[in-house]
Amino acid sequence: MRLLVARPMTAAVTARARAEFDVEFREDTLPMTRDEMLRALTEFDVVVPTLGDLFSEQVFALVPNPRCKLLANFGVGYNHIDVDAARAAGVAVTNTPGAVTDATADIAMTLLLSTARRAGEGERQVRAGTWQGWHPTQMLGHHVTGKRVGIVGMGRIGQAIARRCHFGFGMQVFYQSRSKKEIDFPAEYVPDLKELGARVDFLILAVPGGAETRHLINAQILEAMNPSALLINIARGEVVDESALIAALRAGQIAGAGLDVYEFEPAVPQALLDMENVTLLPHLGTATEEVRSDMGNMALDNVAAFIDGRPLPNPV
Ligand code: NAP
Repeated sequence: MRLLVARPMTAAVTARARAEFDVEFREDTLPMTRDEMLRALTEFDVVVPTLGDLFSEQVFALVPNPRCKLLANFGVGYNHIDVDAARAAGVAVTNTPGAVTDATADIAMTLLLSTARRAGEGERQVRAGTWQGWHPTQMLGHHVTGKRVGIVGMGRIGQAIARRCHFGFGMQVFYQSRSKKEIDFPAEYVPDLKELGARVDFLILAVPGGAETRHLINAQILEAMNPSALLINIARGEVVDESALIAALRAGQIAGAGLDVYEFEPAVPQALLDMENVTLLPHLGTATEEVRSDMGNMALDNVAAFIDGRPLPNPV
């Protein structure tokens, strides 16, 4: 059984993969090209792909009888894989849920606090040597503790964010998702996204990407939000209509945004780079050694189960 791992991994994951499998590691940190994906499907039994590796319907169509029978995705989000086309080609898909939850929720809070309290702007001022000292009206931001937060997508990460907001910051939690959740602390279900946007100080996105959620946050939702509100996106860039977001920020329809992901990642529009009221992170959601090792081990657990003929632990 030949395994292809599509990116360099942490030392722990690399060592385990080398010890347990006949593995080839791709050294490139950029997404796989179409030719690399065709080779992966043709020459390997299992592939561990990740974000940006576009296993589309067209790619599967070019390899009608793939040798590869499992894409053990590294990451919980798998919107870069056409799961229906994979299934039709006889290729199973797994992901790494749970391993990413707390780290991604932490990054949501990082973005919320940084944007509300103007941390990025302040840091740039200090580094530029333009800070002239404390005074009572210097760089006033948005108070966070006790405010109203709206979570869009109340799944694993959404609930971990809500927990931090409620227990850590005494915030009132409102949420939207496809279904109402049983939550063990106060959290109000607001099924209408426009209404949710209008009712909160901070709107945090934690839905999966893909066709169903593309541009879920559009001009109408942004218009419904309060001019003092902030939008935080740790989900996928395509969930937000980026042009509409830029227009809303320019028009003062919302007060700021904190972004970990971008519609055309890694391209970030100049308009956003020019705005001081926007915090921009380079997709850092799960970027810690422990979490990336947990994700890698989870992907390899799926590989091992497949090779042993056991049920896959995390099918999607
Ligand atoms: P999850 O447990 O499956 O939760 C997803 C939530 O989104 C569910 O509550 C689901 O609602 C809701 N949802 C799905 N489609 C929706 C729609 N059309 N409208 C409204 N709500 C919808 O997934 P998770 O583990 O929390 O991960 C969520 C996403 O975060 C991932 O798919 C990934 O794209 C992203 N992520 C980003 C980073 C990063 O580095 N920034 C890291 C990890 C994950 P129901 O429960 O009602 O079905």
